[in-house]
Amino acid sequence: MELTFLGLGGALNINLGNNMAFYKSHTQVLLIDCGESCLKQLISINALDNVTEFYIAITHNHADHIAGLANIIWYLNLVKNIQPIIIQNTPAHQKDLTQILTLVGVKQEFYKFIPYNQFNMNGLTIKPVKTKHEPTLECFGFLLNDNGEKSYYSGDTYDVEQIKNYINNPEIKTVYTEVCDLKNSPHIYIEELLNIDNIDKSKIRLMHFTGSLDLHIKVQKLGFKLPKNIIIK
Ligand SMILES: [Zn+2]
Ligand SMILES: [Zn+2]
Repeated sequence: MELTFLGLGGALNINLGNNMAFYKSHTQVLLIDCGESCLKQLISINALDNVTEFYIAITHNHADHIAGLANIIWYLNLVKNIQPIIIQNTPAHQKDLTQILTLVGVKQEFYKFIPYNQFNMNGLTIKPVKTKHEPTLECFGFLLNDNGEKSYYSGDTYDVEQIKNYINNPEIKTVYTEVCDLKNSPHIYIEELLNIDNIDKSKIRLMHFTGSLDLHIKVQKLGFKLPKNIIIK
């Protein structure tokens, strides 16, 4: 399973768009996070053609991860006649997100939540894992299991030990992790990744670039990879 990225930047990255990814299996789509340009991006690559079910997983409620959510929900309902399904990480997560959507004018009948353990998209399952990022928000990474092939998607976090455990876990094939080159930020500092003993860079895909605007180029010179499928328009 390879995620397709519609953006690779943190909130202040003006070149790479907001970090978000999707996976399409036949007529079903799983979207992970929903930044500002999400709807335009999905339409521009015809990702919404022939879709019958649309699932949305949200790592946390920072604006760069949910700013496009209302537009996607409206479009799916009013143009595609699809009620999107939001994956509930925890009951508190559902309550917070419902409140935000209500405040921006999205009717509750335009979407529904299902608990994460009820999500199964042709054998793909998802398990939220709490991460440390922003003390005032619940923040999650996701363990994805596609018919036995496991990957980990970090969400936003500064917890390098957690990332290290997934990188060193032989059951995990791919680790998508965020990275930054700012010290003392709520993100993973690039030097901390480089300091992991015997790090297997081949299983890591870096994303959510925060700090220098050429960080995505610098990390490739250091031997790291970006996701295989990137569509930033
Ligand atoms: Zn972010
Ligand atoms: Zn964040």
